[in-house]
Amino acid sequence: MISNCLGKNEKGHLTIGGCDTVDLAKEYGTPLYVMDEGKIRATCRMYRESFEKYYGGQGMPLYASKAFSCKEICRIVNEEGLGLDVVSGGELYTALQAGFPAEKIHFHGNNKTAEEIAFALDSGVGHFVVDNLTELETLNRMAGEKGCRACVLLRIKPGVDAHTHQFIRTGQIDSKFGFALETGEALAAAKEAAGAEHLDFKGVHCHIGSQIFDVAPFVLAAEIMVDFIHEIQKETGVALTELNLGGGFGIKYVDEDTPPKYDAYMHSVSDAVHRKCGEYGLPVPYIFIEPGRSIVGEAGITLYHVGGVKEIPGVRTYVSIDGGMGDNPRYALYQSSYTVVAAGKMDAPCTEKMTVAGKCCESGDLIQENVMLPKLEPGDLLAVLSTGAYNYSMASNYNRIPRPAVVMIRDGQPRVIVRRESFEDLVRNDV
Ligand SMILES: *Cc1c(COP(=O)(O)O)cnc(C)c1O
Repeated sequence: MISNCLGKNEKGHLTIGGCDTVDLAKEYGTPLYVMDEGKIRATCRMYRESFEKYYGGQGMPLYASKAFSCKEICRIVNEEGLGLDVVSGGELYTALQAGFPAEKIHFHGNNKTAEEIAFALDSGVGHFVVDNLTELETLNRMAGEKGCRACVLLRIKPGVDAHTHQFIRTGQIDSKFGFALETGEALAAAKEAAGAEHLDFKGVHCHIGSQIFDVAPFVLAAEIMVDFIHEIQKETGVALTELNLGGGFGIKYVDEDTPPKYDAYMHSVSDAVHRKCGEYGLPVPYIFIEPGRSIVGEAGITLYHVGGVKEIPGVRTYVSIDGGMGDNPRYALYQSSYTVVAAGKMDAPCTEKMTVAGKCCESGDLIQENVMLPKLEPGDLLAVLSTGAYNYSMASNYNRIPRPAVVMIRDGQPRVIVRRESFEDLVRNDV
């Protein structure tokens, strides 16, 4: 199985967290997101323990909440001792509503509005990851006006090619995020931050991409960042104490995906940071990392009921489901791979090549093409695996289709953590 929270029971049904998916679909309806809390908590602990094991506990994983944001996930990662990364006023609001401690939040984004900055300052957000000079100036001015100080990390483009998908690559010079090292832009920003009256310039941040399977680009990025911390000290006299290395650790969507063990990453990165700091005679910085996908991705699945099966002789066979790009736009956006299984017929031979199509009025509304499935009939249940990240959080109401519910399973007990949207919800803001 793609994820260790999945299994198959004696009826030949797919299980998640020990629950029969056919029963879940019956009880909560479809489409339905289902997540396993045990798997999420185990991954959080593994990240925390890797800091203990390899870095003397001098660091903290932050959950990148854009992967899946709702109040309950904020409560869970808070209980596990993680910090949080938010990228908008809405994600910040969600975290605060869940009682997440503001001082453990890092606020990201390449265009934080004045309203968002004011909200974050008033809430006592721990770190601002500053993307550009406009933001640096606005933040300094607003902190001054409010009579407070803001803790700042600068987002740097280390220029590391992590061999990832073009569309989701963010470490290159040609990226809308952060300050480039090569052009001198990053050092100029560091000088500005060092001299800003109302800012505490604490460190630097980078995020080299997403769904990365290699440890090497992370190590290279960490080395480049320590080089830069050294350069900043030489040029400005400011001794930075914090280094945020971002997220991007890959997960298993299909059998061919081979993510490394996540703590292997912390092991190699810790060694590199210690070695580099030793060379420069710098104290080792406090490290943050920002895993999103790897905390929730494999812990989630989506359940759908099959409607029609449309065979176009000599062309292909479409199987239509009761969801689609509204609840999972990732195939339409990036041709992302997913594993699809017939959740109620796990023992049936997969003899049919099918294209799984959503119900939106859009030809590109596909979940996956050319997947092998058993013979299917209307009413059969399909499960798409590894949908815990960037599915619910990227969902839309296109075609006025209500967003599905999210069910979380803990110790074999399901509970709704996000209710299914109703038609009334759809018109709530209409005037
Ligand atoms: C998206 C993002 C993350 C999380 O990335 P994953 O691939 O989900 O681990 C972390 N930090 C920043 C700045 C991001 O943009």
